[in-house]
Amino acid sequence: MNEAINAGRDVGRMEFMLTLRQRGIGDQAVLRAMDDVPRANFVDHAFLGVAYADQALPIECGQTISQPYVVAYMTELLAVRSSHRVLEIGTGSGYQAAVLSKLVREVVSIERYRTLGAQARARFAALGYANIEVLFGDGLLGAEAKAPFDRIIVTAAAEEVPQALVDQLTDDGIMVLPLGPHNGPQRIVKLTKSVTATGVELVREELIAVRFVPLLAGQAQEL
Ligand code: SAH
Repeated sequence: MNEAINAGRDVGRMEFMLTLRQRGIGDQAVLRAMDDVPRANFVDHAFLGVAYADQALPIECGQTISQPYVVAYMTELLAVRSSHRVLEIGTGSGYQAAVLSKLVREVVSIERYRTLGAQARARFAALGYANIEVLFGDGLLGAEAKAPFDRIIVTAAAEEVPQALVDQLTDDGIMVLPLGPHNGPQRIVKLTKSVTATGVELVREELIAVRFVPLLAGQAQEL
């Protein structure tokens, strides 16, 4: 391995967990899931030395595996229960889906790059994570055939809330997504759906500032 590629210093799994707690992750089940899933299995070989550093890292197809703190934070916001079915848009490395799989009944994850989806599937098989299904396609459209979902998480930045995803939430569902211009200031937004006599309501909370790769329409033409 070329050590020069690793700009960061080695961080062990003890420090990884300590950082999450210090940054305010308090949900014990989420912390356990973060502790259970070996992030080293989801990063490229060149970055093994910094797999447990609190930073996003490049993966294939010009995409990124999210920063551990942001993965834990978004997972906590979802307030999942073990009976839940969750939809993720943007499988990427598969890391976020793996963390969720420890907490819920079923995860459906959509990726627009076949290369990434296939790699993630192989990782889930190797680790024995059997309750994750990876689909190829345009996540902006959701997965109508498998809806409704108790929770939806989007892990690429949307310029506006995708209506198809709101429609595929259960009546009391929660969606968490990064919202904002591509390559501009984005915030994590939590949307809580409720259905009243007058129609569907969405309570919207704007939370921490983040930087995510863009949510792009359509399936990738490249692999
Ligand atoms: N959750 C991932 C983060 C990956 S980065 C992880 O834990 O590693 C975001 C991913 O969203 C990229 O892989 C990108 O290809 C994918 N993506 C972007 N737009 C998409 C869309 N419309 N449908 C499905 N996936 C999309």
